[in-house]
Amino acid sequence: MAAAPTLLAVPITSAELPLAEQVQAARAAGADLVELRVDCIGDLAAVEALLQQPRLLPLIVTVRAAEEGGSWTGDEAERIALLERLGLHLPGYIDVECATWQRSANVRQKVGLVCDIARHEGENARPRNQLILSHHDFKETPPDLDAIFDRLAATPAAVIKAVFAARDATDGCRVLEQLRRRAPTRPTIALALGEAGVCTRILAKKFGAFLTFATPHTGGESAPGQPTIAELRSLYRWDHLGPATRVYGVLGWPVRHSLSPFVHNAALTAADLDGVYVPLPVRPGWDDFRAFMECVTASPALGFAGFSVTLPHKEHALRWLDERGGAISAPARRCGAVNTLIRRPDGTWGGDNTDGRGALAALRTLPECAGDQLRGRIVSVLGAGGVARAIVAALCDAGADVTVYNRSENRAQRLASELGCRHAPWAHRLHYAGNILINCTSVGLWPVVEETPLPDEALRPGTTVFDTIYQPAETRLVRAARARGCAVVSGLEMFLHQAEAQFELWHGIAAPSDAMRASLASPKTSVL
Ligand code: NDP
Repeated sequence: MAAAPTLLAVPITSAELPLAEQVQAARAAGADLVELRVDCIGDLAAVEALLQQPRLLPLIVTVRAAEEGGSWTGDEAERIALLERLGLHLPGYIDVECATWQRSANVRQKVGLVCDIARHEGENARPRNQLILSHHDFKETPPDLDAIFDRLAATPAAVIKAVFAARDATDGCRVLEQLRRRAPTRPTIALALGEAGVCTRILAKKFGAFLTFATPHTGGESAPGQPTIAELRSLYRWDHLGPATRVYGVLGWPVRHSLSPFVHNAALTAADLDGVYVPLPVRPGWDDFRAFMECVTASPALGFAGFSVTLPHKEHALRWLDERGGAISAPARRCGAVNTLIRRPDGTWGGDNTDGRGALAALRTLPECAGDQLRGRIVSVLGAGGVARAIVAALCDAGADVTVYNRSENRAQRLASELGCRHAPWAHRLHYAGNILINCTSVGLWPVVEETPLPDEALRPGTTVFDTIYQPAETRLVRAARARGCAVVSGLEMFLHQAEAQFELWHGIAAPSDAMRASLASPKTSVL
């Protein structure tokens, strides 16, 4: 069956604004279809009035029963009669729960009469609606998805639809795998709810789904995780997605505030590559990380080609590669963490860490640190966590003389002995060594933005101050440093350079730096 383009459907869930106005707004925003959630709208007279008007867009009529997450609490016979009555207006599509369809001869007869399913001999061929049979699970994405999709596929529905609550992106990928397998032979809608399901809403188009739901504006969602049409189009490259699109994403917990989708999707657009970059929240445990990686590795046809790895999975990524015999770069091995996973054409995975490279590139944007000028320089690093490890390793490689100060001194001691630098008690940071100071602690990170790892008065004029924190872009430490006439480097500069290095690892071409930088200037990315 030739795949029809995936439609953008906008749900309408209230009659607070006139329904016709809402349909018009949906069309203006780029929707192909509108779902009338009659159970939520409640105002039946308004629905019938809309259905009597000429169609601006095809409509899905849904009167969802409470047992499948809807708001219809009335009598079941009344609900079925309503579906039939509304169906006579030929909205285009009628959505009924598969369980109701299978259980109720009344539904099969009445809704069947207004839908385009197998007809009795001699019946006239008047136009009817397409039947959507749906399944909803608001508790979980159960282990046996095959059984659910097989049951849907055995019905006479024109379109089958299944929606699941997802614990994390692993469930989202399992749903996508069903969509990938079912959509070529049957118009299919397969979605996971919530933040974990955002990838299913975006990638619906890659796998040829019948539709995905989106809203014309923020706040219009009928289910958690629905993006806006503008987000799908301008951020997630909706118009470019197709079967060959390669998929990249950020793995972490949480990933809601990640800037990576902005930067990497802008880069894909600027480089004119057939790819998309999506948020992939994976729960914090090692088993959760491993489950996700095993899921995407077992389904190469899903097209996952690379990941940015963020908290708390950088060490899990290294462990996973070690267990599978994956290639690990020297910088990643040295700092004990992987922030970039790369899938090779033969399907194997490799890991690298671009944090150290990104930090040094950021520092080298200052004339006094450019080129080889870090060699022999005394540098003080606050913190001994994952980022400190990556930056200290890169600084040592560049020939700098590094001292680490950390709240938990044993951690500083371990880092110093492993990477071959000095360490000193946390209190000694007030008299930090040298004239380059790098904050690798999380002190000052949003939302506790008035904290600083070093009292303002301890900053010596003439110091170069680099704060790795980029949310907010201007930390209290950076503000205080500017006020004392220090040269400053922001965490955003490091973020951009490490993202450029990731792009180059995945795509093997120079990163479009200007487009990546420009993507961070959008209002969406400056909310923090
Ligand atoms: P970790 O959790 O591994 O390390 C956190 C560090 O902060 C530890 O050294 C910890 O000390 C210290 N710390 C935390 N709270 C305090 C406190 N109240 N007082 C003193 N020290 C404290 O985190 P990461 O190394 O992964 O990340 C560190 C920062 O780097 C993040 O906040 C993030 O903003 C930034 N980052 C920037 C990136 C960029 O591209 N610009 C990329 C990734 C991260 P202790 O050992 O005593 O607990």
